Amino acid sequence: MHIGADSIVLSGGYEDDEDYDDLIIYTGHGGLNPLTGKQEADQKMERMNLALAKSKMFCRPVRVIRGYNHKSIYAPKHGYRYDGLFKVDDYWKETGRAGFLVWRYRLIAIVNEILSQDRKTTPTLPFATSTKTKTIITQVVKESQYTQRIKKMYDFTCQICGTRLETPIGPYAESTYIKPVGKPHDGPDREDNILCLCPNHRILFTFGAISISNDFTLLGCTGVLKVQKKHKINIDFLKYHREHYYIGK
Ligand SMILES: [Zn+2]
Repeated sequence: MHIGADSIVLSGGYEDDEDYDDLIIYTGHGGLNPLTGKQEADQKMERMNLALAKSKMFCRPVRVIRGYNHKSIYAPKHGYRYDGLFKVDDYWKETGRAGFLVWRYRLIAIVNEILSQDRKTTPTLPFATSTKTKTIITQVVKESQYTQRIKKMYDFTCQICGTRLETPIGPYAESTYIKPVGKPHDGPDREDNILCLCPNHRILFTFGAISISNDFTLLGCTGVLKVQKKHKINIDFLKYHREHYYIGK
């Protein structure tokens, strides 16, 4: 079975793309008027958009190719250039510049030295990555003091279903940021932006199957988020999650 997207070509079709070399905020497909090239409808979670989302789910890297007509200082002057493997780190929806829903994907380079050396010696490149050592290979997701504190506060119990997983080496829970940290969301690493969840509910929340209303009623499943009095969840972050991640009815 074919899972995920194999490659994407950056060729200047979408005005919402952002290119930071090792980090690309890539806009999904669809909704363009073929005659004018303008965004005239919402993008749907189907075809290439769905394939890229599955690339995140199944950790399948995608090949990134930049074309000469891609509007970025990192585009080649002529032709097309293979720029290596990227991981689909995250995806969400938002209103694009033209006012319609677009899917956005954060792609992070899985970097190797060979690639940067190739680029150095390629004469058509108008930019220099030469002195930069690329190190964005893996984001080691280390627990912050705040995520640890929230897990302790809830005694490793899921705020949605109340499950507390016992393992021989201690209880296990996962934490999640309500408004994700990192570009372009820039949610804070703070207790008011963190939930303690079981692995199942963490995945459902991350992939937008469930979300939370301002009064903590759950969306996409029944029930209410359990929140301790001293845990002041910022409802602006809940709103952000609903608007960018929740794919509900
Ligand atoms: Zn749970």
